[in-house]
Amino acid sequence: MFASVSYVTRPRGRLSQLSGRLSPHAYSQTPMAPETVVMKFGGTSVAGADDIKRAAGRIVAAREEGKRVVAVLSARGQTTDDLVAMAQEVSGRPEPREMDMLLSVGERISCALCAMAIHDLGHHAISLTGSQAGIVTDSSHTKARIIDVRADRIREALGDDRIVLVAGFQGVSGDSRDVTTLGRGGSDTTAVAIAAALGASVCEIYTDVAGVFTADPRIVPDARKLGVVSFEEMLEMAASGAKVLQLRSVEYARNHDVRMHCRSSFDGGAGTLVVAEDETMERPLVTAVAHSTEESRVTITGLLDEPGVAGRVFGALAEANVNVDMIIQNEPVAGDRGADLSFTVGRDDQQTALDTISTLEVGDAISTDDAIGKVSIVGAGMRSHPGVAAKVFQVLGANEINIEMIATSPIKISCVIAEDRVPDAVKALHEAFELGADAVRKEEPTGVEHRPKVSP
Ligand code: ASP
Ligand code: MG
Repeated sequence: MFASVSYVTRPRGRLSQLSGRLSPHAYSQTPMAPETVVMKFGGTSVAGADDIKRAAGRIVAAREEGKRVVAVLSARGQTTDDLVAMAQEVSGRPEPREMDMLLSVGERISCALCAMAIHDLGHHAISLTGSQAGIVTDSSHTKARIIDVRADRIREALGDDRIVLVAGFQGVSGDSRDVTTLGRGGSDTTAVAIAAALGASVCEIYTDVAGVFTADPRIVPDARKLGVVSFEEMLEMAASGAKVLQLRSVEYARNHDVRMHCRSSFDGGAGTLVVAEDETMERPLVTAVAHSTEESRVTITGLLDEPGVAGRVFGALAEANVNVDMIIQNEPVAGDRGADLSFTVGRDDQQTALDTISTLEVGDAISTDDAIGKVSIVGAGMRSHPGVAAKVFQVLGANEINIEMIATSPIKISCVIAEDRVPDAVKALHEAFELGADAVRKEEPTGVEHRPKVSP
């Protein structure tokens, strides 16, 4: 029964157990198999030589607690941005395959350097590229998806008592065997995928912030660090612009039931746990306010009003690998006019979206607007409470902020507004829903942490 005991999935437990799980030795999977942990370090956590040494120290400390450690590293500091700029210096539209060859270098540098630092601390480490680590992806260069993790080489190295360092953000196409990258922020997904493949007890994401906050602390100084957040909420937050975790990594973690612990690499404090909803103890009405200023709106006016048109538009965009967020279309008011269709895409995809639609001949005109911003509130509790949307709109209205588009999910309300009003909107909503540190009513604790239940 226990033939592959080291890779069994860890048992599901409630939060009381979960916090224990994170302390040394608390949850080794069996007496025979040491606990496996995956530790991911972001770019700022490996930026300078001292940072690399600090990361190496943390990795070694986990190893010395008896754990088997796989560390996934990002490129140092601004390395990836610098590589992108380098490509743009030589080409207006860099070939995606070559772009991936170039971008994958940053993470390899981090891993090799960190392995050296670990050796100096008296431990054995081995660095691996994504391809060597068995990260197999599809062939969509610069935003590839992981389709398989063939982790035998990682397992072998762990079996040989090595610390394994894996270059994040990259893999190899199963079809073409070319190097691929996973999209900006993709090292988070590498870490989660490896954690899932190894049945690791937790995927720790070390970053330059203390965890996931109720809003961006740069905009809202009294934003609070969340102790726990569900996968569903975190997915909505990541999709709404919270940058702390890559969207796809949360999706992967939810699908494979990998707990994530997002924490600071600069201090020892606990961060934010991202876990399944049935493991969270409460359902706050509103958990956080997220925002994004990295999207553009594309509008097609005079769109043909006949069956199949939307399918053609979005089919072509999907074909071009453009991710669409909000979509709004209205039937034409007068019979002889076409419909208006607006949708939002990442600014990086704006040009591709325009080029793609121009070839379709489905409407009179296409325009874009990139002075838009998006503000969203997310909370699992709003699923069962009416009135949250009304309150959001009232708060924005009271602050003279015009709402240009609205989209909702059962646990999210997003509004597109003018980009320059985003900070005001975030502050106003954070205050109106009493999410700040001052709003925590300590006399009424209900769990790990009390979050106010606000009546709309
Ligand atoms: N280095 C890549 C980026 O800057 C991937 C990552 O950091 O996760 O997007
Ligand atoms: Mg990141």
